Amino acid sequence: MKTSVTGYPRIGPKRELKFWTEYHFEDKIPAEELKANAKTLRIQQWKAQAENGIGLIPSNDFSFYDGMLDTAFLLGAIPDRYKKLRLDELAAYFAMARGYQGERGDVKALSMRKWFNTNYHYMVPELDDNMEIRLSDSKPLDEFLEAKKEGIQTKPVIIGPFTFLKLAKYTGAKRIGDYAEDTTRTYADLLCKFSGLGAEWIQFDEPSLVTDLSPTDIELFSRIYSALLNQKGSLKILLQTYFGDIRDCYAEVTTLAFDGVGLDFVEGKESLRLVEENGFPKDKVLFAGVVNGKNIWTNHYEKTLHTIARLKKHAGELVLGTSCSLLHVPYSVKSEKRLEPEIGRHFAFAEEKLGELRGLAELASDDRFTERESYVKNTALHHEKLEGADQKLRQRIASLSEKDFTRLPAFEERVKIQKEVFRLLLLPTTTIGSFPQTKDVKSNRARFKKDEISEAQYKENVRGKIASCIQLQEKLGLDVLVHGEYERNDMAEFFGENLSGFLFTQKAWVQSYGTRCVKPPIIRGDVKRTKPITVEYSVYAQSLTKKPVKGMLTGPVTILNWSFPREDISPREIALQIALAIREEALDLETNGMRIIQIDEAALKEKLPLRKADWHCDYLDWAIPAFQLVHSGVKAKTQIHTHMCYSEFEDIIKDIEAMDADVISFEASRSNLSIVDAIEKSGFKTAVGPGVYDIHSPRIPTKNEITDAIRTMLGKIKPERLWINPDCGLKTRGEEETAPSLKNLVDAAKQVRDSL
Ligand code: GLN
Ligand code: ZN
Repeated sequence: MKTSVTGYPRIGPKRELKFWTEYHFEDKIPAEELKANAKTLRIQQWKAQAENGIGLIPSNDFSFYDGMLDTAFLLGAIPDRYKKLRLDELAAYFAMARGYQGERGDVKALSMRKWFNTNYHYMVPELDDNMEIRLSDSKPLDEFLEAKKEGIQTKPVIIGPFTFLKLAKYTGAKRIGDYAEDTTRTYADLLCKFSGLGAEWIQFDEPSLVTDLSPTDIELFSRIYSALLNQKGSLKILLQTYFGDIRDCYAEVTTLAFDGVGLDFVEGKESLRLVEENGFPKDKVLFAGVVNGKNIWTNHYEKTLHTIARLKKHAGELVLGTSCSLLHVPYSVKSEKRLEPEIGRHFAFAEEKLGELRGLAELASDDRFTERESYVKNTALHHEKLEGADQKLRQRIASLSEKDFTRLPAFEERVKIQKEVFRLLLLPTTTIGSFPQTKDVKSNRARFKKDEISEAQYKENVRGKIASCIQLQEKLGLDVLVHGEYERNDMAEFFGENLSGFLFTQKAWVQSYGTRCVKPPIIRGDVKRTKPITVEYSVYAQSLTKKPVKGMLTGPVTILNWSFPREDISPREIALQIALAIREEALDLETNGMRIIQIDEAALKEKLPLRKADWHCDYLDWAIPAFQLVHSGVKAKTQIHTHMCYSEFEDIIKDIEAMDADVISFEASRSNLSIVDAIEKSGFKTAVGPGVYDIHSPRIPTKNEITDAIRTMLGKIKPERLWINPDCGLKTRGEEETAPSLKNLVDAAKQVRDSL
């Protein structure tokens, strides 16, 4: 049986590409050197896959920044504002990715959005009416040839025309359908070139097919591909889907003239049913995504081989593959020098997954596979318990009832009580939590980790930062203060490190966007709180001021969404375990005198299922209760805040309301305040702090701008319910811009308040 890899990570096993690229941004290495280094990296990766016996090795899965951006380049979808800069190709590419500010002009980057239900972000292509879509770049062809020179026949991977057009932004009068013809022709031109180069398989990635599709979408998809497939000549075309199943278009996909269809049998809940109920055409190859491209646990051979056996009954030819690109997992377990072998054996990162593919392919064509050593070992491994389950905790979760999730008294009652307690002015000002993580903050943490300074010294330094942070906020005149989060590297990792059940890796980096990578913790066992986590610094901060200081917690859903979850219990169970732990922390903060507690759910929307029909049953029905469980035990006079990193929650506004927080802050300045309308329309009662300025940019907002933003908000939101705050935490900002920005924010709030 053959094997296929959908895509491989590209940042380099030690994040080499990140560093080279950043050096290049800093003018420390020229473009030529960056390109040459990247080429060496690509060749290494192809060889690694070839050595592991992978049959269909991807090319063009590499990118200097992002695959959607590469595709925009390929199609010539370059907005005029970048063309006008007259930069050379790579510089123009990076200008689209990161914006350009220099002697040739000042242009913003394309916007960035989350790639389906992952923590990867893509650049959103912009299509305008004057754009001429035509083959404009040779990157996929060049990389194919590069591999060929090394004696490796690859399968070029291209983001498909349907997904490309679905995700693009239309800035003119033309709409998606208006681009179909030119786009199809361009892809056909590309196929023609590949034919000439001797390619065999071409993979078109079409993850948009796993989302809810309208009849118009399906018609567009069919129109594009019937035309394109007519021109494929002797090339074999693989339609690759991932991140779910294609229940809306299975019939269309299987009738079109594709040579192969890639389905996801890991996240695709319905994939197996679709094949079994409808059959699978014998003249097509079924690429079965059975090795999880999104999580780091070893494959369960017994289960997978069972799926394969069922698929074999329907498919003429079966190729085993990854469920999606391996971009979403780290490189290799081998780099983890500090892992206990006991637990390390349970992990399979990208490189180990190659071995799994080969192993599974061998076993799948072996009648006596149950006797083989690899199978026996794998089965034994999966019968091992991860880490002793905490029976008391399990029982506690099993016995949770409605009242554990319900905060009393009800919201309206609490509003009155809190009004008396806090006596805040109208339009109270606050920040989201973190203050700039300056060099001294980072070096304090790094030196403590390396044992260069004592714990006492480390804590003394953090306290020093907190004290000046409180002083600054008092001087600026903010109403509700924060301690600044100087002790935290990352809002999820910090809690993971302080709870039991998490494991931290050294080198397990995953690309988040461009040169930015994250190192998600691994949830390996039952999660519990073993000690107070935030109490000491919060109480210290509160002791320095009469104004209320917010105790800062990260919510259970965000901690879960930013980790690699275990697979032996459900996400609901994990979320509730984390929720109970964070609940204890919240109650401890309250006991110790904190009057306001903020529970951040920055990543709540991130894992919202791709299909509406799954939103509730698969996610919101446990995610929202997990949040409620954290704060349902606090007193009426304790004010609960939450924060979310995006404002696109129009569609789930009822669920956000059901979280039953007292105040919610969120990003709004970049999304033209549309959420504010939705808030008004839905009769949302929680007090809101839609960010009045964008913290993702070093720009200092003027007082007038902020005044305008507040006035616009007041057109829709009663002043009694409006809070004034920035978009998100300030940790990525410099101190030099933070103080003046906040001063303008406070002044603007005062000006509007005085005019009310
Ligand atoms: N409290 C966190 C901070 O201010 C929230 C960060 C976030 O939403 N990503 O940094
Ligand atoms: Zn945020």
